[in-house]
Amino acid sequence: MQRRQFLSLLSGIGMVYATRSFAATAPGGGMVTIIQFSDDGKPLGRATLAKVYKDAEWKKRLSPLAYHVTREQGTERAFSQPGHDRHEPGLYRCVCCDNALFDAATKYDSGTGWPSFWQPIAAENVREHEDRLFGMVRTEVRCTLCDAHLGHVFNDGPKPTGLRYCMNTVALRFVPKSK
Ligand code: FE
Repeated sequence: MQRRQFLSLLSGIGMVYATRSFAATAPGGGMVTIIQFSDDGKPLGRATLAKVYKDAEWKKRLSPLAYHVTREQGTERAFSQPGHDRHEPGLYRCVCCDNALFDAATKYDSGTGWPSFWQPIAAENVREHEDRLFGMVRTEVRCTLCDAHLGHVFNDGPKPTGLRYCMNTVALRFVPKSK
């Protein structure tokens, strides 16, 4: 295949996919159950809440890259975002809706240039489903509360779970542990 043909094929796939991902993030309504956490990482209990959809606010408030990653299933370039290799104690929340997603205690250096964790803060707070984009079968990870695309999970992580939650830095808001 000629390079130009290949590029035009890729952009065709991108357009189809953008349409599909828009549909996937349109307001679906409904209720979801998550575990709420305080900023210092303490569980506050289960809450059943209406799904969050604030597209106009997200367009205004998020950087173009954060919007693209979370609402259009984009991916930031590896090593490109300050904070991908942060190791301070704290909590990572969804940049769109503030749902608690990861505890910094489960973050490790995967060497990939993306923040990597071996488990979410609560299984209820993320949704995982199969993604077949570009002929690869991967497991996509989304925020339960607002459907933000966060990244993917792979089976090559460290103990104790053997999982690698490979996240986009721009999809997360870091809350440092207060001293
Ligand atoms: Fe969210």
